[in-house]
Amino acid sequence: MVLLKNEELIIKTGNLMGKSHPTVTRIEALRLCQVFLRSSRGCNWLMTAHGQPIVQGITNAMSEINEKTLVREGCRTALLALRYSGNHHRCFWFNAIDKILYKILCGSCNSSSHAHQTLCHGELFNIDSKDIMDIHPYVWDILGYLAVHCDNEHFSVGTCQNNFLQGLISCACSLATDLTLKKSPLKLSKEEQEPALRAVLMMLLSPSQFIFSEASSKFLEAVLPLDNEYMNMFMSSLESNVTRNLTASFDCVKIMTNLMNIACLLVVQSNYSLNKRSAVDVLSNIIKECLHDHLYITRSNFASHLQFCFDGSSCCYLSEEWEGENIVLFYGLVVLFNLLKSDNFICFHCKRKLDAGIVCHECRDHYNEGLVGVLKQALCQNMSPGPKSYIAHILSMFGLCGFPSKLGGNMRNVLCDSELVDLELLLADGESLSAHAAILSARCPKLLPSEKTFVRDGSVTYEWGRRSCYHVRMSDRVDSHALKKILEYAYTGLVTVDDATVKPVKTLAKYCHLRSLHLMLQKEQPRWHSCPIYDLTTALEPAKHSFSDIILEAQSNDKMECHHGSCQLSTPHIHSHKVILSVSCEYLRALFQSGMHESFAETIRVPVGWEALRKLVQWFYSGELPRVPPDCRWKATSTEEKLSILKSYAELSSLADFWFVDGMKEESLQVLTSCLNSSSTDASLAFIGFAANLGQWELVEAAISSVAHLYPRLRDSGRLEQLDEDVLNMLRTEHVRYLQHRSASK
Ligand SMILES: [Zn+2]
Ligand SMILES: [Zn+2]
Ligand SMILES: [Zn+2]
Ligand SMILES: [Zn+2]
Repeated sequence: MVLLKNEELIIKTGNLMGKSHPTVTRIEALRLCQVFLRSSRGCNWLMTAHGQPIVQGITNAMSEINEKTLVREGCRTALLALRYSGNHHRCFWFNAIDKILYKILCGSCNSSSHAHQTLCHGELFNIDSKDIMDIHPYVWDILGYLAVHCDNEHFSVGTCQNNFLQGLISCACSLATDLTLKKSPLKLSKEEQEPALRAVLMMLLSPSQFIFSEASSKFLEAVLPLDNEYMNMFMSSLESNVTRNLTASFDCVKIMTNLMNIACLLVVQSNYSLNKRSAVDVLSNIIKECLHDHLYITRSNFASHLQFCFDGSSCCYLSEEWEGENIVLFYGLVVLFNLLKSDNFICFHCKRKLDAGIVCHECRDHYNEGLVGVLKQALCQNMSPGPKSYIAHILSMFGLCGFPSKLGGNMRNVLCDSELVDLELLLADGESLSAHAAILSARCPKLLPSEKTFVRDGSVTYEWGRRSCYHVRMSDRVDSHALKKILEYAYTGLVTVDDATVKPVKTLAKYCHLRSLHLMLQKEQPRWHSCPIYDLTTALEPAKHSFSDIILEAQSNDKMECHHGSCQLSTPHIHSHKVILSVSCEYLRALFQSGMHESFAETIRVPVGWEALRKLVQWFYSGELPRVPPDCRWKATSTEEKLSILKSYAELSSLADFWFVDGMKEESLQVLTSCLNSSSTDASLAFIGFAANLGQWELVEAAISSVAHLYPRLRDSGRLEQLDEDVLNMLRTEHVRYLQHRSASK
């Protein structure tokens, strides 16, 4: 991570991948790139600044068919880069990645004769060179990632060169199906099958219409004569594997392969003669077992071609895949989603006809206890974006749309609170709904008054003396129930819709650019982006109209230049919003409501430094304190800087006591404990003194336990003299405990 700040090195790396350099150099440059690409942050940095030369370097390496190692390293690097969504995908397509992949598949057999005809799997495996076979899994994985991150627009130009892509798709499909149907003349291990099958599934989930239709027609072609039979075969195999003796461990690979096949079949076609209720039961079982970690398998367990990702030691580990670690869970969710989705417009339970949705109002209760409850609970846990998105999309079919969050939950109170309202949405029928401009500006800016009305100040009326109130007239087609639902979603990030409201809400969600809600109501496959996070920080950005009504001022002697309208204040400060502050802080809520002098004051002096104030505001607007990962970047910061960061968390912890900020104390302690363990002794000692002065004894304890083992040395060097007697006593006790613990464990 630290290395990424070194511009020169990156430029040089890009250069060294050039064709003119010897193979060995290029391989080393690619390996360095792989290290950079371990995290999405690294990928972002690398690709925004130097994307072009690096992608070029990677693709060049991949096209050197005769240099096996070079091709392999190129594939590995490409694989890592393409895991993340971003503009570099465009770059890869631009460099004809499809053609390169196709050529790798063709291998050393002269590619010109194959150029325009589709390879069949037979030819593919007649090439009995083991070297080439090693590379195939990479090709499939790359193809899969390209597919799920591909937009429609990639193919708007130059459709003629899609021959290679079509070839790739049909190869993958025929390979995947042949292997499962055991038609293949060659005995291939799971290792070769899984990547191809996975690539097919990912292509079927692709947002690109071209890839999807191409892949589904090829896949269907292969399975068509017997599709119902296959479906039942996979299902019963799945069922027998899951309901087997509970004490025996599951055959995870078998279950996974079954799930993948079923998912492919379901996406391609939906009318199977299948007992859907028992299928749902089987899947619920699988998902429950997964959530309890009884059923668990990661890709690295069997995909040996990915082993390189985990080679070597590094402080910045390879960040998690979108699908999450446990892929049985992910595939299970994909299957369940597509299974439910296929049951369009008939109540899943009582078979009544519906306008939209899958469960009628009366039947929802049947599910509340079992599956839905489990999924709801899972959604609140810490999870990778993939399973999370699928769970949310499954729940949306039961009428529960969105992603729950703590801050969003707290916002629910504001929704029905008329206090601090500064915006009114006027409907055609004379009804009006009140809202808070600050919240909408972050969550649904489309509902805000347009720029025009700002300029024409006539529409702004003044109420309660100083607070202004905006009025926005909605079009006559907007339905008040739907608008209420949209507001609920905007405020809380979560909304329940039922059969009757789905359609108007969907229309309005589209109009308001609430993409994730629209996607959910549309029953589309989730996109491979990160999940939407409930975050109001965009409301803080200095804009012409930030709707800010309160200033938080830090305790600091520094100067700051403010770009906020006509603001003249020179001390460090932040323009914020009473509504949002009062949600998470009891003290401020009481203050604003009291009608006392200060509730009208435009500035509140916060008794913390600037560093801490910024973190505090982050807490108010996102519900979380910024984390400090104790990795190489933390280790590389200077002791002073470390100390000032540590101190800011101590200040927050102390402020939480006075201002009654729920949960902030605990979170500061968490952040601090992880940092303290990898801090220098100097920083820790200085911090102990600081925290003791603030009376934050829990923090003192945490800091002490991180240095207790050094006590004798510290005492002898005289560095403890600055500390209080109380603190010294604590340190001594902790040291004794440390010694006892050590001797006990010997
Ligand atoms: Zn690192
Ligand atoms: Zn029903
Ligand atoms: Zn029922
Ligand atoms: Zn200002």
